[in-house]
This record gives sequence, C-alpha cells and structure tokens, in this order.
Amino acid sequence: MKKTIRDFDLNEKKVLIRCDFNVPIKDGKIVDNNRIVTSIPTIKYAIDNGAKVILFSHLGRVKTEEDKVKNTLAPVASELTKLLDKEVIFIKDTRGKELEDAINNMKVGDVLLVENTRFEDLDGKKESGNNEELGKYWASLGDIFINDAFGTAHRSHASNVGIASHLPSGIGFLIEKELKELSVLDNPEHPFVVILGGSKVEDKINVIKNLVTKADKILIGGGMSYTFLKAKGINIGTSILDEASIDFAKNIMNEYPDKIVLPVDIKVTTEFLNDAPAHVTKIDNIADNEMGLDLGDETIHEFSKILDSAKVVFWNGPLGVYEFSNFTYGTKKILEKVANINAKVILGGGDIVAASKELGYKDKVTHASTGGGATLEYIEGKELPGIAAIDDKE
Ligand code: AMP
Repeated sequence: MKKTIRDFDLNEKKVLIRCDFNVPIKDGKIVDNNRIVTSIPTIKYAIDNGAKVILFSHLGRVKTEEDKVKNTLAPVASELTKLLDKEVIFIKDTRGKELEDAINNMKVGDVLLVENTRFEDLDGKKESGNNEELGKYWASLGDIFINDAFGTAHRSHASNVGIASHLPSGIGFLIEKELKELSVLDNPEHPFVVILGGSKVEDKINVIKNLVTKADKILIGGGMSYTFLKAKGINIGTSILDEASIDFAKNIMNEYPDKIVLPVDIKVTTEFLNDAPAHVTKIDNIADNEMGLDLGDETIHEFSKILDSAKVVFWNGPLGVYEFSNFTYGTKKILEKVANINAKVILGGGDIVAASKELGYKDKVTHASTGGGATLEYIEGKELPGIAAIDDKE
C-alpha cells in the first residue's frame, strides 16, 4: 500500500503536489476544466491542513519557444483562483530566484503554481527524461511530495519520479481513487466480461494477452473486430484492418475459442462519412466496397445476453465510429446495458470515457478511469513508475 496525503502532518510544511492540469486550451481559454475541478479536493485538503501548497503540472508538449506561448499554465492559475476562491500565485518559470523567493515568502494556506514543467524539455528533455539534477532541484523547494497526476503515472519524469526520489512522498485523492477502482480488475469476481473496441489491435495486444487469462468473455466490436473477422476468413470489404495483427488474432482465437465473441451483424456504408447511406448486414454478407462502422441489433442482443450475468465489466474503446452521430448506436446501446446491470463497470482509456460523457453515461458506471495510457498500462499488469516511486506505508 502506498502512503497517501492523509499519512502526513502537513502543518506549516511546503507541500509539492504534482497535478494533471493538462487541459484543452483554445485562444487562451480553457475549453474543459474537468481536470482542474477534480484536482481541487487534494489541494483543499492540503490548504485546510496548514500546508504551503506548491503545484506542478505539464501542459501539452513543448518543443519550441513558440510552444511555450500556447502552453503556459497562466489560464490554469486564473481558473484555480476562481475554483479555490483564493489568489493563486503564478510563477512564470520552472526554476530560479523569483520562484525560490516566492516560495520562501509563502504563508500557511498560500497556493503557488509553477509554470509548465515541460518548459524544461527545451533544454535537453530535462522533465521528460527525468533529469537527476532537475528532480533534485524541484524536491529542494519543498518538504513533502504528493503525486496526484494519474495520467502521467506511466511515465518516469522529473516532476513525478524525480521529485519522489528525494522527498517523503504519498499519493493524492485522485490517484488513490483510481488505484482503488482499478484494483477490482486484479482479481475480478466472475463472470468477468471485457468489452474491447476502438481502431487498432496492435495498441491493445498486451491488454488482450493479460485480460484473456482472467476474463470469462471478451466481446470485441468497433474497428478492431475486423482484424479478428478477417483472421476467421470473413470478407470485411473496406473495413479498417490491422494487417500486422492478423496472426495474433488467429492465435488468440485458437487458444481461447470460447472466450472471444465477435459481431454477427454490423452497420455498413461505402464511404467514411456520417451522412453516407448505411444499412445493417449479416457479418458473412459484407460487399467488397462496404465498411462496417457500427454494430447491428443482433450483435447488441448477443453482447447484452452475456453482460446480463456479469459481475465485473471492463470496457476499452468505442464499438463504432462514435464521432459520427449516425454510428453511435452500438456504443450507446451497450453503455445503456452496462449502466443497468448489477455489476462493477469500469471504463478505461480516453475514447470510451469521452464517448460515455458525450452520450450521458459517464456518471452511471462504477468508474470512468481518466488515465488513458496509464490505465491501459495498469491493465497490462505493468508497474507504473510514478506510483512505484511513492513511499510505501510502514
Ligand atoms: P482507440 O484509440 O484504439 O480506442 O480507437 C478509437 C477510435 O476508433 C475512435 O476514433 C473510433 O472512431 C474508431 N473506431 C471505432 N469503430 C470503428 C470502425 N468500425 N471503423 C473505423 N474506426 C472505428
């Protein structure tokens, strides 16, 4: 078990918190403040317990001087000021005298935000390469380090692993919640049903390899199902194919013939367009010029029957091109299903969480994991360096 922010006496301590403020910003305005909002409980807890709070985050990628202009955390500082109802001190640098003086002048309950940690990447990828000197320097600014950025926990950066290596450390409430919810998948209750969609098999090979041993059924839909169908010798027309993964698909279906469940009917069209004429067809009746972009009702029925008895469900990847309003049907129907069964339902990976939000189901499942890459690496059974670096409970 990892230490959490609750395991520390924060009073009068300089507490460094690594947050995930990597929010979408357009023309200097924050488009979606969800990541900032969800960071507030950990920050408030630190304030309420007498800390001097120093916040770090990355924002986008910084490869040129111009990237610095569009990736400044200044809008985040204003948003935090609003959400906390308290002036947040913003330092437009990632190191130096101004930052050090500002920290030395902080009073109990003050909050300070350091500029985008990736500004350090311009100087030889110091942040992303977990430069030893940088991690040590940032650690020297505080007394305690709290990591609350789950989305970067699969990366070994100076602002997570680096700082943690030089200070007493714990996790914040966001990471604590992610780990608690995802741990349901370590030894899942059965039936454990996995739903996989999205576009490419290749990105999910390790996820499939790890889950196939634990799951009772793996329901495969969306773009990745066509590689499996092709591996079975079915004509997939012009549907998306991940050629390099055909052999993998063949082998896994041979090894686990009863576990992998594929679509039996799909909605096809001849052009990758929302408004292209479309119809539902049986899976063995796809014409050469047709591509499948959504599920048919028979498949939805088959998937639903299996989901009815599930105790735990993990779902990654949409079951159709959910960005096109005419092809959200399968994803929506199965979201509706999992929202209404008596099971722990965990959505993981960016696209299905985005789809569930858009379609109004995000709050109707047990947990929508926000980690993207970090969530998938957790599911693959990998150790996440940003969490491994945190102190264990005694
Ligand atoms: P991933 O990042 O692998 O989870 O893939 C998500 C993407 O898969 C989304 O942009 C979907 O539009 C896409 N997708 C889902 N189903 C299909 C399909 N049948 N054909 C093409 N793309 C699909």
